[in-house]
Amino acid sequence: MNGLLASLAPDSPARQTAAPPDWKGQLQLLIVQPSPFCNLDCDYCYLPDRQNTRRMDLSTLEAAATKIFATGLPCPELTVVWHAGEPLAVPREWYLKAFDLLAKHCPESVTLTHNIQTNGVLIDDGWVTFFQDHGVRVGVSIDGPDWLHDRHRRTRDNRGTHARVMRGIEALHRGDFPFHVICVLTRESLDHPDELFDFFANLGTIHLCLNIEEIESANRSSSLAGNVEDTEHAFRQFMARMAERLCSANGSLAHSAPRMRIREIDDILLALRHPGFGQQVGNSQNLPGQILSIAWDGRFATFSPELLGQSAPGLGDLTLGNVLNDPLPPLPDDARYLRQWSDIWQGIENCRKSCAYFNFCRGGAPSNKLGETGRFDTTETLFCRLTQKAVTDVVLAALDRDLPSLPQHVKPKPRFWLGENGHNKMHNRS
Ligand code: SF4
Repeated sequence: MNGLLASLAPDSPARQTAAPPDWKGQLQLLIVQPSPFCNLDCDYCYLPDRQNTRRMDLSTLEAAATKIFATGLPCPELTVVWHAGEPLAVPREWYLKAFDLLAKHCPESVTLTHNIQTNGVLIDDGWVTFFQDHGVRVGVSIDGPDWLHDRHRRTRDNRGTHARVMRGIEALHRGDFPFHVICVLTRESLDHPDELFDFFANLGTIHLCLNIEEIESANRSSSLAGNVEDTEHAFRQFMARMAERLCSANGSLAHSAPRMRIREIDDILLALRHPGFGQQVGNSQNLPGQILSIAWDGRFATFSPELLGQSAPGLGDLTLGNVLNDPLPPLPDDARYLRQWSDIWQGIENCRKSCAYFNFCRGGAPSNKLGETGRFDTTETLFCRLTQKAVTDVVLAALDRDLPSLPQHVKPKPRFWLGENGHNKMHNRS
């Protein structure tokens, strides 16, 4: 990032903002909403328009593909995620045309992978064959055993959905088709780490992703937000137990071929292994052009996917345009885009100056900052206290336990540790 421009934000006269990075070659994740409709009505859902049964017109997808590929936005490995509604509520015939259309525009230098994140209730043998034929990666949303899952993941006529999701997973197993899982953790889940670990280990998933119940977009409350100290304590205990179970099941936390992985733990290990650890600023959610979200009607946004269709105080609608009429990427002097970037960049800078976990998190998620604080230029959120700070502490502690003991004659020097509540601590281990 180079070049400086003065921020337009009225509340911080001395603010300096880096020029937004070039989008070329940066796009890793293209999130496409084939339809906003969802056949379920989960009580923590952040999507505001999920009764709307409209479907993306293929000419809208073609306009997006033309701009994305002609301007060289994708990095060499582009993942397309069909999401933001229930993707399997759209027929396979639509996807056949959509996949062909993207393949037609995609240059040979870019490898394109399709990914479907589904609530699972519509998966059947026909869908599994489709996934196999087109190399589609599949994620299923399931919150654990029925007594946890059915509390929140319900139909519009208020029935639980666990049994139907399990039938979908049986179809995946019949086709010997690997899948990952997204589990939303509510306050109640945190008291049951062993039940959750056993459930997912027996489910046969390759990768467990633990989302917390977040305050963002249309979801304005969370069972985790009540007593924050209690939540954080329970979350730390929960993650410590999950790490312990993972170590016992795989032999070590960092096993190269584990039977099941946990995304949150992997993310910390990946950060530690990255050759640029400690020198990177920003992440895929707070740098523009790495994630691009396109709504069924062609509206688009970058940064956190949940920002599409939202507005923010002082910034207005966070949509950056429509693929049918507007430049993609936005023009470098687009005022809407620059105001968003300025605030988000200031949030990254504030994090960099104040947070001991910055090298792992690299400045947080704009959607959570906005959802919890109403602004982008802030730092700590409940989301980051749990998913970044607590998880980092748990993983470092587990790795530390795995290290062989130092020989008696070695006297360790004072070391820099991250403390229980995210404060830096000088700690002498001798
Ligand atoms: S953990 Fe929180 S405060 Fe620290 S860098 Fe991330 S978002 Fe900022």
